[in-house]
Amino acid sequence: MMKLAIAVPCYNEQEVLDETNNRLTQLIDRLLDQGKVNPDSRIYYIDDGSTDRTWDIIENLSKHQPSVTGIKLSRNVGHQHALLAGLLTAEGDAIVSIDADLQDDVSVIEQMVDDFNLRKVQIVYGVRKQRNSDSFFKRTTADLFYKVLRLMGGEIIQHHADFRLMGRPAIEGLREFNEVNLFLRGIIPLLGFKSSIVYYDRTARFAGTSKYPFKKMLALALNGITSFSVVPLRMITALGFVVFLLSAVMGIWVLTNALLTDAMVPGWASTILPIYFLGGIQVLCIGVLGEYIGKIYKETKQRPRYFIEKTTD
Ligand code: UDP
Ligand code: MG
Repeated sequence: MMKLAIAVPCYNEQEVLDETNNRLTQLIDRLLDQGKVNPDSRIYYIDDGSTDRTWDIIENLSKHQPSVTGIKLSRNVGHQHALLAGLLTAEGDAIVSIDADLQDDVSVIEQMVDDFNLRKVQIVYGVRKQRNSDSFFKRTTADLFYKVLRLMGGEIIQHHADFRLMGRPAIEGLREFNEVNLFLRGIIPLLGFKSSIVYYDRTARFAGTSKYPFKKMLALALNGITSFSVVPLRMITALGFVVFLLSAVMGIWVLTNALLTDAMVPGWASTILPIYFLGGIQVLCIGVLGEYIGKIYKETKQRPRYFIEKTTD
C-alpha cells in the first residue's frame, strides 16, 4: 500500500484552512478504509510567509492531528516556490499538490490515487472541464496565455494548473531542475514518465480572496513564456528582416524617382515616419532581449529559492 502525501501551499488562508483540513482528512480516512493508502499518509501545509493567523492554525491542526505537518517558510516566496518547498520536503510514495482554497475538487484525488496504484502512472494531471467559476476576464486571459505558450513551443497541458499527483521518481526528477524562474506547469511535462489526466469542475474559492492579483498573473504568464520559449527572440530577427526588406523597396522607389522623374520629393513624412517607426521597434526589441538577459542574470546567481524556518514535529 502506498504512502500518500498532500502538499498545500498557504498564503493568508485563515478563512479556509479549517474547512480544507476537514475535507482532506475525510478523504484520507476514506482512502485508508478502502485500503488504497497506508496509515502513514500525511497532509503538509506550507505557510508561505503569511501575515495573518495561518501559521497559528496550522500549528494547532498539527498538534491535534498526528497526520498533519506544518512547514513554515522564512518569508513569502510565491506560490510556485512554496509548492516546490512542499514537494521536495514531503515524504511519501506519491505527492498530490492542491491549492488551499478548495477550488480544486478534493474528491478527484481518489481517482488520481487509483491511476497511480492500478495503472502505474507516475504523474496524474488534474484538468479543469470548465472555468465558469472564474471571471470572464480571468477565463479569456488564461485561454490566451495557454494558446500563446503552445504556439511558442511550450509543452503545456491546457487547463491544467498545479493540481496533480507525482510519484517519487518524478519528484526526484523535479529536484534536478534548479531554475530560479520556476514554472512548474511547464517543467513537469518535460520530466516524461507515464502520465494520465483526470477531469474535474473548478468551483469558486471557498472563502477569502485570490492571492493572484493581475500583476502577479501577468508576471507568471511572462515568466512561463520566456522560461520555455525563445520564439520571441526569433520574432525579433524576423521583424528586423521584414523592416530591411521594406527599406530596400523604399530605397529602389526613391532611386527611380530621383533618376527618372524630376518631381522633387518633399520628404518630411518619409523621413520622420521611419525614424519613429524604427526607433519604436528597436526599443521594443531591446526590451525583449532585456527580458531574457534578466532571466540569465537571475539564473546565474543560483540563489536559494526558499528557506524553511521551522516544521512542526
Ligand atoms: N499562494 C502562495 N503564495 C503566494 C500566493 C498564493 O502560497 O504568494 C497559494 C494560495 O494560498 C493558494 C494557491 O497558492 O493555496 C493559489 O492561490 P490563489 O487561489 O489565490 O490563486 P487563484 O486560484 O486565484 O489563481
Ligand atoms: Mg484559487
